[in-house]
Amino acid sequence: VIGPRLEELYGSMDVAARLHHDPVAFPRRYADPADIEVAAAVAASLAFGRVDLFRPVLARLFVEMDARGGPRRYVEGFDRERDGAALLPIVYRWTRGPDFVALFAVLGEAVRQHGGLEPLFDYRGEPDVREALQRGIDALRAIASAQAGRPFGELSRGVKGFFPAPDGGSACKRWNMFLRWVVRPGKEGVDLGIWRRIPTRALVVPLDTHVARIARFVGLTARTDGSWKTAIEITRSLRDLDADDPIRFDFAIAHLGISGACKGRWDAEVCPACPLVSICVEATAAGG
Ligand code: SF4
Repeated sequence: VIGPRLEELYGSMDVAARLHHDPVAFPRRYADPADIEVAAAVAASLAFGRVDLFRPVLARLFVEMDARGGPRRYVEGFDRERDGAALLPIVYRWTRGPDFVALFAVLGEAVRQHGGLEPLFDYRGEPDVREALQRGIDALRAIASAQAGRPFGELSRGVKGFFPAPDGGSACKRWNMFLRWVVRPGKEGVDLGIWRRIPTRALVVPLDTHVARIARFVGLTARTDGSWKTAIEITRSLRDLDADDPIRFDFAIAHLGISGACKGRWDAEVCPACPLVSICVEATAAGG
């Protein structure tokens, strides 16, 4: 019963309107896959907290990138002195100007060394992207550490926060979202479909608070934490609905929460019209 309800949720979503409230709107501005890839990595990296708070910060970063020929040329030619000065005043939560400088320097070195980010996330046919993600993050951490001349664990909270890894138990929401964007085809008008090596069946759900909560409400998981284990449990449940493309409903589920439509509890104003009401434990508990 979950599948048809999720289909209905997806069908009821105004994708164009929701894109204004989603960081994927930034990489979608570009036509060249080389720009799209870097733009996606930057946009996903800042996608924590409230979208109305991180979006103006991303807008500032993209002004800088566009002024130097677009995201790929900007990071490839990134100069800490010349380009870093404009970044130093930028602050987002625990991420400070020097952390943004480090992010662009790392991405620049990665694309110079490997011709792009895809070779770093080396997928070798595993059941899911955990190992490919770990390899990619390990490579980016190694660059960050080499550039700073210190072990990764000694870098600032902001830099470390850019590069969480599954082996620490993190759900790695932002990097799983990045992978969803670059792997899933763009035909629905959301994702970007620029990578070829990772199959959609291996993707893991980008677990944010909205997805975690709504997944629990509709029985995709019984777990209550925001860990990698929970992301995997939800992904496995979604695979039962669509083995080839388990996270195709992620955008719709996430935006049911991001939009504020789902209040996280029974609400007599909104819940009766929610496509998930017949399978939601909150509705059942409220007798809805
Ligand atoms: S029925 Fe209500 S609480 Fe349940 S998912 Fe829908 S909006 Fe959220």
